[in-house]
Amino acid sequence: MEIANGFEASSIEKAIQFLAAGEVVAFPTETVYGLGADALNPYAVAKIFEAKNRPHFDPLIVHISEKDWVFRYAEHVPSSALKLVEIFWPGPLTVILQRKAIIPDIVTAGLPTVAMRMPSHVVALQLINAFRKPIAAPSANPFGYMSPTKAGHVARMLKGRIPMLLDGGDSVFGIESTIVSFQEGGVYIHRHGAISEEELSEHVEITADREQDALCRSPGELPYHYAPAKPLKIIHSMDEIKTDNSSFLAFRAPERPSISRHMKILSEAGDLKEAAANFFSSLIELDREDIDIIYAERVPEVGIGRAIMERLRKASKKRSLLHGR
Ligand code: AMP
Ligand code: MG
Repeated sequence: MEIANGFEASSIEKAIQFLAAGEVVAFPTETVYGLGADALNPYAVAKIFEAKNRPHFDPLIVHISEKDWVFRYAEHVPSSALKLVEIFWPGPLTVILQRKAIIPDIVTAGLPTVAMRMPSHVVALQLINAFRKPIAAPSANPFGYMSPTKAGHVARMLKGRIPMLLDGGDSVFGIESTIVSFQEGGVYIHRHGAISEEELSEHVEITADREQDALCRSPGELPYHYAPAKPLKIIHSMDEIKTDNSSFLAFRAPERPSISRHMKILSEAGDLKEAAANFFSSLIELDREDIDIIYAERVPEVGIGRAIMERLRKASKKRSLLHGR
């Protein structure tokens, strides 16, 4: 795999050559690293699924570099969607809209909708802009595993599986985009992410009820996801740590030493944004240690803390679902 500095024009040039040839390229975004392909070329998009081992029922997000492109790929865009796009783009908000036929089925897993986002990372924007076409991209990790927030993560996780990686530094948010759809009763949050529910609700009505029509189905919302290879247990307090042969993912600086052999602190001062930014990279490192279990301390479920807890819960469910425990 060729690893290139994403901030150099020659790297973008090279990446575009790969994309135009129907190949995949990993690139940085402000949320996590993405694995991109020409969104309008189904054969290219198929390579994303191959490289990630991703099941074909899990749709991809289409990344664009201009707000107006929404109208090229979506129909009947509701006013609440336009409002959120005006406020939060470029940035970590993904909107689910009715798709136009130009978007291939493989991108949307056959759904009548398409998920779209305009990222704010300068390398991502330059790449899409220079390509002049939308780029379909999920996170650049093997399916079900944690999302990469550093170029080094991608290099390790997808070694030998992709031709090129653009290095754009560490992802600032470190957690995926917030995904919303638009319903009669208001905006529905499919996935908590880098934009908090509180931020959204300053501008639109948030609904907890999901309409059960085809437009709102989101097959990618699996009960387990984002999971380390080791079992993960969410704990309220350090008293629940039963073995030193463990890793401890602490939310803030603990008051006394942990018995766990390895520990990562998400944010010394207990700042949720900092915790989110460090979340996947800390978990990826703890998972690489030779231990039996990862204990993860609960974080407050407000703001971006909701997104962290959503991911911890999914990570902790993996074992019980796969092994019937
Ligand atoms: P990833 O880019 O790996 O974070 O995954 C993208 C996620 O976006 C999928 O797993 C789905 O949950 C969601 N998604 C993408 N397209 C749609 C769609 N058309 N309808 C609902 N959810 C979608
Ligand atoms: Mg993903």
